[in-house]
Amino acid sequence: MATIFYGSCLCKGVRYSISGQAQMSVLCHCLNCQKSSGSAFQANGFYSKGQFALLDGASFITDYHDSAVDAGCTVIRSFCSVCGSNLYTTNSTNPLIKDAIIVMSGCLEKASSALEPPQSEFYVKRRRDWVKVDGNGTSEFQAMS
Ligand SMILES: [Zn+2]
Ligand SMILES: [Zn+2]
Repeated sequence: MATIFYGSCLCKGVRYSISGQAQMSVLCHCLNCQKSSGSAFQANGFYSKGQFALLDGASFITDYHDSAVDAGCTVIRSFCSVCGSNLYTTNSTNPLIKDAIIVMSGCLEKASSALEPPQSEFYVKRRRDWVKVDGNGTSEFQAMS
């Protein structure tokens, strides 16, 4: 049996569960992840959509269609319309990640156990100079890959 992890937004109106570990753990330094998180980068876990289950709060979730990403495609950034927490990103038009749901790790209840240390960093060309990642062999990509 896969371990079940739980997540929620800041107001706890949205709650979800995730079955099993992330398939990939990533820091994204792209400008849009900085903007949408309101912080220096986003720490994300890539899961298959089948691992994710929304438990509560579907009516609170608003989708922002972000068509100005560095990678040149449109991603859907889903957030809680009550408290503003970033929840997850999807992109059904990109064959590489159309079956994936990219979950912002800050909303996981036990982020430390649900998410391995980052294996990759995307958009390191956008990384703030003062961000030092203690990645044990973290793969760095100037863009998405
Ligand atoms: Zn909320
Ligand atoms: Zn990004």
